[in-house]
Amino acid sequence: YSAKSSRVGQRIYSAGDDSNDEARLRTLHELRIALAENQLVLHYQPKVDLPRDSVPGVEALVRWNHPTRGLLFPNEFLEVAEHGGLMRTLTRVVLELALDQAVLWQDQGRVLTVAVNLSSRSLLDYQLVNVVTRMLADRELPGSALMLEVTEEFLLVDRDRARNVLLRLRAAGVLIAVDDFGTGYSSLAYLRDLPIDELKLDQSFVIPMLDDDRASALVASSINLGHSLDLRIVAEGVETAEVLDQLVRFGCDVAQGYYLSRPVPAAELERWLDDRAAAGLVAAGIE
Ligand code: C2E
Ligand code: MG
Ligand code: MG
Ligand code: MG
Repeated sequence: YSAKSSRVGQRIYSAGDDSNDEARLRTLHELRIALAENQLVLHYQPKVDLPRDSVPGVEALVRWNHPTRGLLFPNEFLEVAEHGGLMRTLTRVVLELALDQAVLWQDQGRVLTVAVNLSSRSLLDYQLVNVVTRMLADRELPGSALMLEVTEEFLLVDRDRARNVLLRLRAAGVLIAVDDFGTGYSSLAYLRDLPIDELKLDQSFVIPMLDDDRASALVASSINLGHSLDLRIVAEGVETAEVLDQLVRFGCDVAQGYYLSRPVPAAELERWLDDRAAAGLVAAGIE
């Protein structure tokens, strides 16, 4: 990039990129250690069933408990993992953590489906379905204890391949959600013959939906079209009571967002669930 870096403005970028590369290399190196030394942890965010007010499941979101930098969020290391060839390992670590937690919750008598995010690339891993089914079998968990959140991108890259992977997961009882729906290029018609259980409307439409007519129309029409395909519709990014009310009016099935709960460690989620159950009993006049 010599020609470019001879331009003054570019030289600044180029210098920035060099130190950036260094930081990325360091992050990659540290991430290898993190994966080996169990520094990754999962936080869990509840999904609330709107008509019933119950909590059928939670989404597991990865965090890195970095020894010096503190708690790091996915945007600070997922890309490095992807480009550095660590995504396959990271995905397996996350699946193990999530399913171990699912066993603990099952033992506590909590019926919760744990949703795990998959990068497009981990879905191209031919071993993935076998790995997932073995992890479930090792723990004697039913497939329905696990939901996998996939992106539209994955469904678009190689439709036949995607369909095949999803059908094999479906055969194992695993549930499938399409994440960040509305941000990609797929249409609902395209999703029609794929074995999908849940459509997650992206937060970029949900957050502004009360002020932005187009966002609102997109949410409403996705809910209606999704229902016509028998999909459960989840709204991500529910930050206010007003948005929640509007989603209920639109007939949305499930809500997830800061208004209900931020993603939190397992113990905190358990307290949240118990407090909610207790409040429900009080409201019903049972306690
Ligand atoms: P996502 O799967 O779409 O997850 C939703 C993101 O929105 C999460 O960010 C969550 O903390 C955040 N969020 C939840 N409620 C609200 C809200 O009301 N308002 C706003 N503004 N944001 C909300 P997070 O945890 O930083 O994760 C970001 C992305 O990183 C995820 O987006 C997912 O694509 C990816 N990711 C997270 N964990 C994993 C993982 O274990 N594996 C892979 N491959 N990707 C992951
Ligand atoms: Mg997700
Ligand atoms: Mg999402
Ligand atoms: Mg998102």
